[in-house]
Amino acid sequence: MSISPVSPVLVDRFGRTVDYLRISITDRCDFRCVYCMSEEMTFLPRAQILTLEEINYIAQAFAELGVTKIRITGGEPLVRRGVLALLETLGKIDSLNELVLSSNGSKLEEMAEAIKQAGVKRINISLDTLDAAKFREITRTGDLKQVLRGIFAAKKAGFKRLKINSVILKNRNHLEVIDLVQFAINSGIDISFIEEMPLGLINSHDRVEVYYSSDSIKADLEQVFKLQAVADNTGGPSVYFKVIGTDTRVGFISPHSANFCSTCNRVRLTVEGRLLLCLGNEHSVDLKKVIRANPSNMDKLKQTIIEAMKIKPEQHEFDLTEQPIILRHMSATGG
Ligand code: SAM
Ligand code: SF4
Repeated sequence: MSISPVSPVLVDRFGRTVDYLRISITDRCDFRCVYCMSEEMTFLPRAQILTLEEINYIAQAFAELGVTKIRITGGEPLVRRGVLALLETLGKIDSLNELVLSSNGSKLEEMAEAIKQAGVKRINISLDTLDAAKFREITRTGDLKQVLRGIFAAKKAGFKRLKINSVILKNRNHLEVIDLVQFAINSGIDISFIEEMPLGLINSHDRVEVYYSSDSIKADLEQVFKLQAVADNTGGPSVYFKVIGTDTRVGFISPHSANFCSTCNRVRLTVEGRLLLCLGNEHSVDLKKVIRANPSNMDKLKQTIIEAMKIKPEQHEFDLTEQPIILRHMSATGG
């Protein structure tokens, strides 16, 4: 299906244009990262989650409304059966400049080449430590070697850009930031450090106690590397620095210490088909209900999406010390 580009129609009350959609295609995962999930998780029943056809249909609507970038995420998107066919279909939407993916890397060794062929331009891969035992502790089930093989397979497949995402927790992995950057430099890829966000109930730690700010990480890195600020051209919340003398950029995503909401250009489609207007608020519209009640009525779907822009909140209000936190996990949300 070929869709001609249109002028942006998704504009919210604060004048922000939405041109980026993140889609969680599954809440399931082969890992149980301590900041993302509890050890025992109850996943959603199949009837409650969007089918791949429904995801594709909604993605087409967004593309017709001016969205030019889609990120497929989860949960671990590569554990959902049929993901390659979905990527291939989305990869054929002419007006999409960028189809990108987030993954924990566990399946990349066997899938990287096919993902590239499907039209995915960039992959963000989670990696919080280079210590195998610690990796197992943080992910609870993950195998570091398998993920490293996945990263190398992705590198070999020749993606336009690869980036590591590291969530840094004090006294768990905060002493590893230098090694992680050195690994990124040696591998010729980028890296972003993320402050932990209070999404979903977890049982492994107190989020206040493990908070380690982006400023602290940057100060640690500057003991070893020379960092030079660069203009961010990805339109995202990362603030980027180039590591002088290398091809690597280091990004900081700081939901607590630096608010990035004024330039927010994104919305999220949850695995249940809710259009979530902000990661840190519950404002949402049930698109699954709309498409199941009005099958094949693309105009109705598009009108609902346009209307939804009116409830996009101005900014998130994360407070690590306050209860209740947001109960939805990052995995169901499209992190
Ligand atoms: N499974 C894939 C992965 O791990 O990259 C994609 C989904 S995961 C939810 C997307 C990103 O969210 C990962 O980089 C992960 O580290 C991050 N993440 C998960 N829970 C988080 C939290 N509570 N705070 C900050 N980042 C989180
Ligand atoms: Fe799975 Fe990614 Fe969440 Fe880790 S961060 S549990 S890999 S969805």
